[in-house]
Amino acid sequence: MHAWPPSTVPVLPGQSPELSVHDTATGGRVTLVPGPVARIYVCGITPYDATHMGHAATYTAFDLVQRLWLDTGREVRYVQNVTDIDDPLLERAAATGEDWTALAERETSLFREDMTALRILPPAAYVGAVESIPHIVPVIERLRELGAAYDVDGDTYFSVEADDHFGGVSHYDASVMRALSAERGGDPDRPGKKNPLDPLLWRAARPGEPSWDGASLGPGRPGWHIECVSIALDHLGMGFDIQGGGSDLVFPHHEMGASHAQVLTGEHPFAAGYVHAGMVAYEGEKMSKSKGNLVLVSRLRAAGVDPAAIRLALLAHHYRSDWEWTDAVLDGAVRRLDRWRAAVSRPDGPPADGLVDALRAALADDLDAPAALAVVDRWAAAQEAEGGADIGAPGVVSRAVDALLGVAL
Ligand code: ZN
Repeated sequence: MHAWPPSTVPVLPGQSPELSVHDTATGGRVTLVPGPVARIYVCGITPYDATHMGHAATYTAFDLVQRLWLDTGREVRYVQNVTDIDDPLLERAAATGEDWTALAERETSLFREDMTALRILPPAAYVGAVESIPHIVPVIERLRELGAAYDVDGDTYFSVEADDHFGGVSHYDASVMRALSAERGGDPDRPGKKNPLDPLLWRAARPGEPSWDGASLGPGRPGWHIECVSIALDHLGMGFDIQGGGSDLVFPHHEMGASHAQVLTGEHPFAAGYVHAGMVAYEGEKMSKSKGNLVLVSRLRAAGVDPAAIRLALLAHHYRSDWEWTDAVLDGAVRRLDRWRAAVSRPDGPPADGLVDALRAALADDLDAPAALAVVDRWAAAQEAEGGADIGAPGVVSRAVDALLGVAL
């Protein structure tokens, strides 16, 4: 599957310090020191509806990671999936009468347009679930050989008890796990399972549902967690640097993914850091497709909102916080963008020595984008109040904001 076009990233003199991030699995900070190629997997969309501000906030957060690592002089191997076959997609298609493949293609195209407009750097590998099925099937067969998978009426389940480290990502207790499993696509109450938490690996073909050749598993389609694991192992291998996504993926998705991979390889951990972005609310509730309270990137773009202002609105909130999208948030971002653009459009300004390093330090400190914005705010305020005689400064600021924050001034 193809991704979206990259925006150019100016190369700045010097380099960022190593990224220190909050790691869900350890509950504390980890300083990640990737090899020459930094490896990150961020879970992608299920394309049954358009990109909302919650998605945009998550992908913007991980875009900062990619930009910071590029600024350390590394190559970045960023992998993202598209869950282009799963229950929500089929349910939406059935509800609207649309062909599920047409729905998936349309919403994936719209997602690419939104990501391009927001200047999110594309993943090096953008991989669909459907195209991955020939790779996923042998992975599930391997779990069966290892005794970590079993059959329930033709469907194949993973046994969470096969992984000694199970629970090591979320650290939730069994009752919380069970509640979240029921809420987020699991089936803890299905009879015949060894453990109520065991997730589906392969769903046998059902009448009226699409299915694919599953070799010894029989025709069917893959579960969501094994999809991501198969793609991540194919493209990144074990022990990559960051597994990322929204905080609603901590359990079961990232917990199960880690267990699948750890049983498959006999190695631990799946990822050096588990990084999770907060949820964005709107009108008092978490923004979600199921609740229908969505602020869509595409709708704001169609209304003439500058995507750079949307990006600044997202960056004004720390990625780990839960926050609420309001008109005032967007208005504030529009004003900030205007101030910054006015400041860099002048021929000279106050010295920008130290500004680049201050931006780098803010981002390396658990992606503190609000602190980074404050650094640029201070320079722009000084420019407005006193001007300055440094001929190179506006260019330095403009390039740094572009490279590190992804905002074109
Ligand atoms: Zn995933």
